[in-house]
Amino acid sequence: MRIRRLKLSGFKSFVEPAELRIEPGLTGVVGPNGCGKSNLLEAIRWVMGESSPKSMRGGGMEDVIFAGTSTRPPRSFAEVVLSGETAPIDGAREELEVVRRIERGAGSAYRVNGRDVRAKDVALIFADAATGAHSPALVSQGKIAAVIAAKPTERRAMLEEAAGIAGLHVRRKDAEQK
Ligand code: ATP
Ligand code: MG
Repeated sequence: MRIRRLKLSGFKSFVEPAELRIEPGLTGVVGPNGCGKSNLLEAIRWVMGESSPKSMRGGGMEDVIFAGTSTRPPRSFAEVVLSGETAPIDGAREELEVVRRIERGAGSAYRVNGRDVRAKDVALIFADAATGAHSPALVSQGKIAAVIAAKPTERRAMLEEAAGIAGLHVRRKDAEQK
């Protein structure tokens, strides 16, 4: 998919609403240590349905909500909006806007193009587009070393995600539960 815009509010260090336009071509994010570069990449993975708090560098998922500083009170929710266009489906790209919001004590809620959806639906959208939260296109800090050290089964999962067949596993798991 093509990511065009990212909006963050109360997400980690992005306490005030922030909007980023992502232009075609290569985008670089620069800044001093601790300014929030990795948090931005995590916001993209999070809105795509990341379910592991550990890969968000937290103990629980609510740790993505701005925790407050000595001068600023904590926030009660975090929200990330990702907008762009899907990969071509029968030659045409479709507009896609995905919103994930988490409130303290209330868990996560998702909306896709204005409609409430389940986490599973969001996972399927991105798994089919081969751009999910675990997509090899998103290389986190330390990830290269993790690939080198991965067990064969873990490496297989990475290759499956890259090949765009991860969505089939989500559907198989779903079918087995029925
Ligand atoms: P580096 O160059 O060292 O990799 P970076 O630009 O990638 O740095 P990040 O890791 O994205 O920086 O940002 C870390 C900052 O985010 C820290 O200052 C940390 O306190 C802040 N942070 C993370 N989670 C929260 C939260 N829930 N509430 C408030 N601040 C947070
Ligand atoms: Mg970093």
